[in-house]
Amino acid sequence: MKADAGPEGSYVAGGTDLYPNMKRRQQEPKTVISLMGIPEMAGTRNAERGTELGANVTLSVLSAHPGVLLTAYHAIAEAAELVSTPLLRNMGTLGGNLCLDTRCNYYDQSYEWRKAIDFCMKKDGAICWVAPSSPRCWAVSSSDVAPVMVAIGAEYVLTSAAGERVVPAARFYQNDGINYLTKQPDEILTAGRLPAPDGWDAVYHKLRRRGSFDFPVLGVAAWVQWDGSQVADARVVLGGVASHPLAVPEAGTALHGSQLEPDAIVAAAEAAFRPAKPMDNTDFDLSWRKQMTRVYVTRALEELRSRKTAVHR
Ligand SMILES: Cc1cc2nc3c(=O)[nH]c(=O)nc-3n(C[C@H](O)[C@H](O)[C@H](O)COP(=O)(O)OP(=O)(O)OC[C@H]3O[C@@H](n4cnc5c(N)ncnc54)[C@H](O)[C@@H]3O)c2cc1C
Ligand code: SF4
Repeated sequence: MKADAGPEGSYVAGGTDLYPNMKRRQQEPKTVISLMGIPEMAGTRNAERGTELGANVTLSVLSAHPGVLLTAYHAIAEAAELVSTPLLRNMGTLGGNLCLDTRCNYYDQSYEWRKAIDFCMKKDGAICWVAPSSPRCWAVSSSDVAPVMVAIGAEYVLTSAAGERVVPAARFYQNDGINYLTKQPDEILTAGRLPAPDGWDAVYHKLRRRGSFDFPVLGVAAWVQWDGSQVADARVVLGGVASHPLAVPEAGTALHGSQLEPDAIVAAAEAAFRPAKPMDNTDFDLSWRKQMTRVYVTRALEELRSRKTAVHR
């Protein structure tokens, strides 16, 4: 069907991102192909290498699923629960969330609004209003679940007529507001493969204006591999500050060998603060959002430390 529809065909899952975008003529597919009838993309499975989450699992199911919420994978359930409203989570899927369009105040507007400013580079125009001399679009990765998938080292299963391939979540995204996914247009994200739980833990913290349904203007996913009481490996991934989930390896390095004591957390938060470069194209003052990187990374790592302490008690 996709081959027949060509570049003017688009996949749809829950439609909570695509249909509002179509109403505003940000995306104008001539053919819309629903993925929701594909049985292989439903439900969760225990595969040899860990759990596999079907891309069509709704965010409501994901956030309450005991095999996710009550296991090492709880950060995925918690991030899914922080998406939007119950109504949208009932329709919105994991796959749609992981492929979510990037967002910008100059783009997420009605057709008439965008026409009044002569559009922008992401759709119908030539200039970027956020950075007028920039050759690229800076629209923001705003998925809540994607940073967690990158932080825990998940893999995505991509399927097309050419066959199946598996890519690390981190390589599925790229820092370009227009071409923000590395997948081919005909490839379907069929599942997320989660690494086996072997002594790691992860958390997700989200900054937004209204706790009831706003997109993240900053998301912090933190992952730690414990070796006894010491951190053997760690990853910090930021959402809402770039066109892709932004991994900050320096923040992970600052935690190696530590017990997440305050000094190590301060060093990691400082390392995450530096590359976080929010642009002036979402909610809140951008310098304040940058400042909040330190606060949210600190809170996320403190939560990981207290979860470890609670296990040892
Ligand atoms: C008011 C409002 C608030 C929102 N708040 C948040 C929020 O706080 N956090 C957040 O993360 N999101 C938010 N969203 C966005 C959206 O609701 C969710 O991200 C949702 O999970 C999208 O899933 P979907 O199945 O509805 O995606 P769809 O709209 O069906 O698809 C989204 C995109 O992904 C593609 N796609 C979908 N599934 C696949 C697949 N399996 N393989 C390949 N391509 C695929 C589609 O072609 C489309 O381009 C909000 C939306 C609204 C309207
Ligand atoms: S960052 Fe620039 S090009 Fe991209 S959507 Fe915003 S205004 Fe348009």
